[in-house]
Amino acid sequence: MFYEDLSPYAYTDDGDVFYDPTDVMRFVAFRPDYARLNIGWLDGDRRWPRGPVPEAFGDRLQAVLGAQQVNVMMGLHDCDLCPTAIPDSHPWYEPLPGHRCASAGTGEIHVPGPSGTVFAAPRLIGHYVADHGYLPPRAFVDAVLAFDPYGSWPARFPAIRFPWIPADAELRHVDDL
Ligand SMILES: [Zn+2]
Repeated sequence: MFYEDLSPYAYTDDGDVFYDPTDVMRFVAFRPDYARLNIGWLDGDRRWPRGPVPEAFGDRLQAVLGAQQVNVMMGLHDCDLCPTAIPDSHPWYEPLPGHRCASAGTGEIHVPGPSGTVFAAPRLIGHYVADHGYLPPRAFVDAVLAFDPYGSWPARFPAIRFPWIPADAELRHVDDL
């Protein structure tokens, strides 16, 4: 799945679903009133920018990955950049030897950007940055550094680490569907 960095997000038209990472049976689903921009939807057949990232960016990116579960319903993706596939005997969520992050992932992270925009990145972005040297656009690096997923915005859903949830959104449980 390839999308150009900073292109309008088009993976799903079904709105955004943020799961509660402490109990992924609970979620908030809504149609966003912010514009979503793609980041890090890389493909092994296309070039992508490489370079060192600030250490603080890598740390904060991992914090966001630990805090958010977004749009996880879309299936498991294996890294297309790795030269070899994950062996069947290896748990997909464990990094391969020599890697810092797992080379398969499901779902996304969403990071508030400037003026009503949100950067939508696959969870594999942690692996792309840490293990393949992917250098995301500066606007995304800045947005991640500015976003504290454990920040003190007025959170109606304390375990859902995203500040721009519409006022009419409700916390639901998969058993209620
Ligand atoms: Zn990889």
